[in-house]
Amino acid sequence: MTKNKNNSDFEDIRKQINEMMKKGNGKFMFSPLSSLKQEPKKTENKENKENKSQEILNKIKDFNLKPREIKDYLDRFVIQQDEAKKVLSVAICDHYNHIRRSLNDPQLDDEDYVKQNIVLLGPTGVGKTFLMRCIARMIGVPFVKADATKFSETGYVGENVDDLVRDLVKFADGDAELAKYGIIYVDEIDKLAGTSSGGSRDVSGRGVQINLLKLMEDTEVNLISQTDMMGQMKTVMDMMHGGEDKDKKQTISTRHILFIVSGAFDGLAEQIKNRLSGSNIGFDKEYTDRYDDNIHKYLSNMRTEDFIKYGFEPEFIGRLPTRVACNALSVSDLEQILTESESSILAQYVQDFDGYGIDFALNKEAIHGIAQKASTEKTGARGLMTVLEQTLRDFKYELPSTSIKKLQLTDKGVSNPQNELEELLNKNKSQQNKHLKKEVEDFTERFKSENDIELLFEDSAVAKLVELSLKDNKTIRAICEQKFKDFKFGLKLISRNAGKKSFVITEKVVMEPDKELSTQIVDSFNEIKK
Ligand code: ADP
Repeated sequence: MTKNKNNSDFEDIRKQINEMMKKGNGKFMFSPLSSLKQEPKKTENKENKENKSQEILNKIKDFNLKPREIKDYLDRFVIQQDEAKKVLSVAICDHYNHIRRSLNDPQLDDEDYVKQNIVLLGPTGVGKTFLMRCIARMIGVPFVKADATKFSETGYVGENVDDLVRDLVKFADGDAELAKYGIIYVDEIDKLAGTSSGGSRDVSGRGVQINLLKLMEDTEVNLISQTDMMGQMKTVMDMMHGGEDKDKKQTISTRHILFIVSGAFDGLAEQIKNRLSGSNIGFDKEYTDRYDDNIHKYLSNMRTEDFIKYGFEPEFIGRLPTRVACNALSVSDLEQILTESESSILAQYVQDFDGYGIDFALNKEAIHGIAQKASTEKTGARGLMTVLEQTLRDFKYELPSTSIKKLQLTDKGVSNPQNELEELLNKNKSQQNKHLKKEVEDFTERFKSENDIELLFEDSAVAKLVELSLKDNKTIRAICEQKFKDFKFGLKLISRNAGKKSFVITEKVVMEPDKELSTQIVDSFNEIKK
C-alpha cells in the first residue's frame, strides 16, 4: 500500500516535469548559467541575422502586446511576483507603444516624454533579473546586465557606463539599429546611494548616478570606446579603404533604451516606516534580518522623497518613475519553482541523468526537502541550484558507471545523500558484476573495431578485471586501457608473424600483461625462424 502510494508520488512529479519540459519544447529557455552575461550567438550567417533583426524591428514598429499577454507569458516561467509582473507588463507596453508611435510618426516623439524606466526592489535571487530577461526574450530585444559597483565616475578605474550601451550593440551582433530599443539592467544600484543607511558607501556613487542619468535621458554614445585603440584604428582603416560606409553613424542614441535598476535597498523599509509613523524607533532585529511581508508592505509605500533621503540624486530617481518591490520566496514558492516553472532547473537534472539512460524522479517530500534546504541559504531561488548540486553531484558521478537505471529520490536521500548513494550501490552489487562484465565485452568490441583483432577473454580473466575494478574503484575501461595499452602494436606484430587474428586473454595476461605480450611476440618471431 505504502509502496504504491510512494510510486504514485514519483509518478505525479514525473508527469509534472514532463509536462513542463514539453511546454518548453524540451529545451530550457533560461539555463541557470544564462544568468551570467549573455553573449550573442556567433554561428548565424549574416543574411539570417539581418532577417532576424528586421523581423524584430518590424515587431517593434507594429508593437501590439497587451499587459495581460506579457503577464501570462511571465507566469509560465516566473513564480510569484504578481505585483512586479503587472507593473512591469504595463510599463513595457507603455514604453514600446510610445516607440511604435514615434517610429510611425516622428512628430509624436515628444522631447518631454518620460520614459518608463524602472526600479526593482527586493532581495537577491527572487527573479528580478529573470523577469526582465523573460520580457526582453519575449519581445526579442537585446538585454544586458551589469552591477553598479563596477562603474566609477571617470571610467579610468572600473568600467564606463557608456560601455553598457556598447554591450547592447554587441549583444545585438553589432546591429546598432536594434540595440536602440534594447533593455539595460543595472543591479546593486543601492550601493550608489550617497548616504546609504546600511551597507558600504561608494564615494563615487554620485558621479555614477550622474553618468547613468545622462544615459537615461537622451544622449549619443560613441559606438567605439575612447579607450578602445584597436577599435578606433580599425574604423579609420576601414574608412580609408572604403570598406566602411563613410556616412554610417558612429554613435547610437539612448532615447529609446529602457533602463531597469535594482537592489535590495537594505534599510529603506525601516526609513519608510519611520516616515509613516513619525517616529525613529526602527525595526525589531528580526524584521531587518528577514525580507518578509512586513518589509514589502512598507516598500509599497515608497515615495521619491524616500529615495532622495536614502542617498539618491533627485534628478536620477526622477528618471525612474516605475517602482515595484518583489517578494521574498517562501519554501512553497521554491517548491513551485522546481515543479512548475518552465525553466525549472530540476528538468535540467532529469535530462542530464537521461543522457546516461538513468530515469531520475523525486517524490513530493524530496521536493519539499530541497526547497527547505534552499531557503536556509537565503539566496532565493539560487539556493535551489546550490542544494541540487550538492545533493546530486555524487549520484551524477557514480551512477553512470553502474548498471543502475533508476534513481528515485526521497526526503531521506535529500537529507543524507551520501548514505542514500551507498545503499543504492550496495543493493546493486550483484547487478554490478554483470554490468562490469558487459564493460569488458564493450572493450573487446571497441578493440576489434579499432584494430581488427579479436580478444577472447577467459572467464577467469573477466573475473579478475571485475575484482580489480571493484577493489581499486576504477572503471573497466580505464583498467583495460592501461593494462593493454601496448597490445594494439604487439598483437598486430604477432598477427603479421603468425597470421593470427584472435588472441586468448587469460588471467595471467591480466596480471602481467607486458610480460605475457613480449613472450608471445618472441614466440611469434621464433615461429617464423622455424
Ligand atoms: P535576482 O532577483 O537577484 O535578480 P535572478 O532573477 O537572477 O535573481 O534569479 C536567479 C535565478 O533563479 C533565475 O535565473 C531563475 O532561474 C531562478 N528564479 C529566481 N526567482 C524565480 C522565480 N520567482 N520563479 C522562477 N525562477 C526564479
